[in-house]
This record gives sequence, structure tokens and C-alpha cells, in this order.
Amino acid sequence: MNHTSSAAQRSSQIRDIVIAGGGTAGWIAAALLSAQPALSIRLTVIDDESGGVGVGEASIPSLLRLLRWLRVDEFEFMRACDATWKLGIQFVDWLQPGHTCWHMFGRCGAEIDGRDFFPFWLTDPSQSYHSFSLHYAAAIAGKSPHSTQGSNPLIQQGAYAFHMDAGKFAGWLKSLALSNGVRHVSGRMLDIERDEQGHVKALVLNDRTVISGDLFLDCSGLAASLTSRILPANWQSSSDRLLCDRAVVIRSTARSQIPPFTSSQALSAGWMWSIPLQNQTGSGYVYSSQFVNDESALDEVIAAVGRWRNPDVEPRLLQFSTGRRRRFWHHNVISAGLAAGFVEPLESSGLHLIQTAVEELLRYLPDATCGESVQQAYNRTMARIFDEVLDFVQLHYLLSRRNDAFWQAARSTVISEDLQHRLQLYRETGMLDELHPAAFPDASYYFLLAGMQQLPERSSLLAANADQQTLREIRAEMLNQNRNMLRELPLHEEMLQRVHGTASKRMTP
Ligand SMILES: Cc1cc2nc3c(=O)[nH]c(=O)nc-3n(C[C@H](O)[C@H](O)[C@H](O)COP(=O)(O)OP(=O)(O)OC[C@H]3O[C@@H](n4cnc5c(N)ncnc54)[C@H](O)[C@@H]3O)c2cc1C
Repeated sequence: MNHTSSAAQRSSQIRDIVIAGGGTAGWIAAALLSAQPALSIRLTVIDDESGGVGVGEASIPSLLRLLRWLRVDEFEFMRACDATWKLGIQFVDWLQPGHTCWHMFGRCGAEIDGRDFFPFWLTDPSQSYHSFSLHYAAAIAGKSPHSTQGSNPLIQQGAYAFHMDAGKFAGWLKSLALSNGVRHVSGRMLDIERDEQGHVKALVLNDRTVISGDLFLDCSGLAASLTSRILPANWQSSSDRLLCDRAVVIRSTARSQIPPFTSSQALSAGWMWSIPLQNQTGSGYVYSSQFVNDESALDEVIAAVGRWRNPDVEPRLLQFSTGRRRRFWHHNVISAGLAAGFVEPLESSGLHLIQTAVEELLRYLPDATCGESVQQAYNRTMARIFDEVLDFVQLHYLLSRRNDAFWQAARSTVISEDLQHRLQLYRETGMLDELHPAAFPDASYYFLLAGMQQLPERSSLLAANADQQTLREIRAEMLNQNRNMLRELPLHEEMLQRVHGTASKRMTP
């Protein structure tokens, strides 16, 4: 096998990356790539400044990795983006009205003999699975993941995330990228120039400026202005699996006690998010236009938010299609963000998928040839991650027992072979097959399946044959340790004041 000399590699190296679109995806890509000085790449972001989607307020723990890549201080980021902490998601009325379950970050309970707690819990499921989670205990006690002194398991596991103001987040990323030397060109991409192999040579803007590059990222949002030019008919819809296609976004006043978790409440034709930020709460109803019209959806979400609603902020209506590109990378164009695909925001996966797209690009970043093998490897990985995220999101609907017409239809949707197999294996053994590390882990499935009362037919032999008295003692000890740990954690509110400075003016219940 020939080894490319580093001199030859340098001569064919990608030198100019052009990012079309300056929404959250464009600026995450610019900030992340510009934080790698060893790449020695010129980066340009082109944006028409017509404004992006501007929602995307809840994150998952991979965002901590983004902060590390960017070498920024967590509290500084929180101050810039009005951020609060998130330990997981509360699902209200999803199984049926009156029922609540939780998807917490991190693992639940502690390992027993090096094995996950879940099969041992199954031997006596009388106490809810989530009640053994330290994250759950901290969430309902309104605690912060940070101790005032020293570390703790929540910090050590890195299993927490943030709620943040999406607009401020994009602005903050932009200022980081600009300070790293990224060039920002204001203009609308109207056309492209290609070479004889079909590779893009340059983007042509509305004022006829020509911006040339070696590699192009399409971060132009749902319009996918660049990808759709080089590879039309490249969309794989998920509308047969996820029925929601619209969202109405409103704002409400911040509560006097800010919960350290996102809330998702099932409504008649979809679900409503409540995302607590430092000075306000973001809410929105994600619904299916087949089952409710826009006016009724707005009435329903306003009624659900009640007196907390901030009437000064106009509701925003968004339409979307769920699905993904068949090819994320084609020739020298890679799509990221909404241009790459969209899974509804039930599990806050949007920002994570953008970050993953850039991290994978960094892993595969080739020389200027962008060969087919690199494209194939990248496309396979991204397709698998998107599909697993989609499977996990769809599972929430499949497990619901609600009777509304929408919910019945959502249970009769097409299910992927992978998900069918995963559920069959789980039903028979309580096990899950291998999951991609950049999608949702087995712990997430266990929280959801157990919380939605879907238990397997049997537990593993090892767990079933374990001494039950010893197991009871271990469980009691887990709960005891969680209680002790809670004492060490300050209130979320207290820590937020420490981070953000003076207490904000908020409504009391
Ligand atoms: C209702 C809803 C709720 C969501 N909630 C969450 C959440 O809680 N957590 C989460 O992680 N994700 C969430 N997401 C996903 C998240 O909003 C997106 O992943 C994120 O905003 C990325 O958007 P983007 O940058 O790809 O696209 P956009 O925000 O649409 O940005 C595209 C940019 O490209 C520019 N542009 C377009 N065409 C051109 C052109 N021809 N020339 C120049 N510029 C151009 C536009 O002006 C814009 O600035 C949510 C999405 C929706 C729809």
C-alpha cells in the first residue's frame, strides 16, 4: 500500500471551505472548524440575513463536547445565551391523560457486578424505573448539576445539557467564529459554478460576487439551496412515520422557580414543549395539519400555557417536512442542519445532528479530491445516526395509548425493520442490540420503554437468578446514595443566580 507523503498531502489539501447559510448550523460549523488551527483552512460564511428558523432551545449532553471543542467556559456560554441546565425530559399525558414519565440523561441506578441495572430492576418493577435515577431525583428537587464545591457524579458523567435562547446562541457562535478569523459575506447565493466533473467551484451571489472554494457546506436551512442544485430528488421523507408537520411557537413568562428539565405535554394532535430559559419560557405546539387546523392549534396551546403566556410576543407558525437527504455528501458539497434533514424536536436532536455532521466531517476530512469512498463512509454513518434518531422519536408515539384520532393514526405508521427488530428483541429478552454512539443509547430506550409501561416478557437469567434479598438491599442503597448526593447539590435557582448575576424579575406561581 502507498503511503501519501505529508508534502503531497499538503499540496492537495482543502484550503477554502465555504458555508452557505448563517443560521445555527452555519455558525456551529464555522465555529467548530475554525477552532482547529491545525487544519489551516480559510472559512467563509455567506448569509442573506433573511433570518433562520431561530428555534432550537433545548440540547442534549453532546453540547458539552461542543463547548470543549470551542474551548469556552460553560458559565460564560450560559450568560451569553440566557441558558439554564437540563437534566432530562418530562413527558406529560403521553401514555394517557394523567400519566407522567421521564427520559433522564445518564444511566439509571448503578451497575451491579459490572452490568446495567435495568435487568435487575425488572425482577421487581413495583417501584418506577426512573425513581432510581440521580438525575430524576435532582430534577424534581429543582437542583443544579453543579456542586458549589468539588465534583459530583452528574458532572463526572458529563450527562447534563442546557436550555438556551436560540437567537443568542447563533449570535454567540458567530462572534466566536469571527474572532477565529472566519470571513462573513452578506449576500444571497443565487447560482453555482461547476467544473466538468460536476464539482462546485464557486457560489454566485445576488450582487454577482463569486466566492470560490474547495469544499462547500450547505447550511441554508429547509430550502437546501445548494444541495438541491447539485442533486435534486435526494430527499427521503419520514412523513409516513412522523405525522407532525407544523409548529406554532409562543413565549411565556419565566417562573419563579426554573425547572432543570424540559417538559413535553401531549395535546390532541401532537405535543407542546416548555423550555425554561433564564428570563422567559419558550413553548410551542408541534402538530399534524391533517388533524388540527392552525387556528385551533393556536387556541389549544394558548389554553395549555394559560396565564403564563406573554401576549406581547406574536405567535410564529412554522411548517416543516421530516426526512433526510439520501446523500448528505455529494461531490464536494455536504449538507448540515435543516438542509440535511429534520426529525421533529421531541428529543432535542437538531443541534446534536449539526454538531455530529461537522465532527464526522472532521474525522473524514479528505484531500481536495473528495473521493467516492470518503463520501460513502460519511453518508452511511450520517444515515444510520439520522435513522436511529428517527426510530427513537417515533417510538414515543408507538407506545402511547391515547385515543384521539391523531394518536391512533400515529400508532399505525410505518416502522423501520431496525426498530421492529429492536422491539422484538427487547420484548423477548429485555436487551437492545448495538446502537450508534452518536444516536440515543440503551439507557434512553430503557427510560422510555419502562416509563411507558412496556416491559419485556422476561429478564436475563443472571438477573432473574440473583439473590432477591441482596438486590433489595442494593436498591435501597442506591436510593440512599441519591438522597445523600442531593444534599450536596445547590438549588438550580441558586446556581443560576451565581452564573447570571442578579435574580431576574419573574412571575410567582
Ligand atoms: C419547531 C422547531 C423546534 C426545534 N427545537 C429544537 C430544539 O429544541 N433543540 C434542537 O436541538 N433543535 C431544535 N430544532 C432544530 C433547529 O431549529 C435547527 O436544527 C437549527 O435551527 C438549524 O437550523 P439551520 O441553520 O439548518 O437553518 P436555518 O435556521 O433556517 O438557517 C438557514 C440560514 O441560511 C440562510 N440562507 C438560506 N438560503 C440562502 C441563500 N440562498 N443564500 C444565503 N443565505 C441563505 C438563511 O437566511 C438562514 O440564515 C427545532 C426546529 C423546529 C422547526
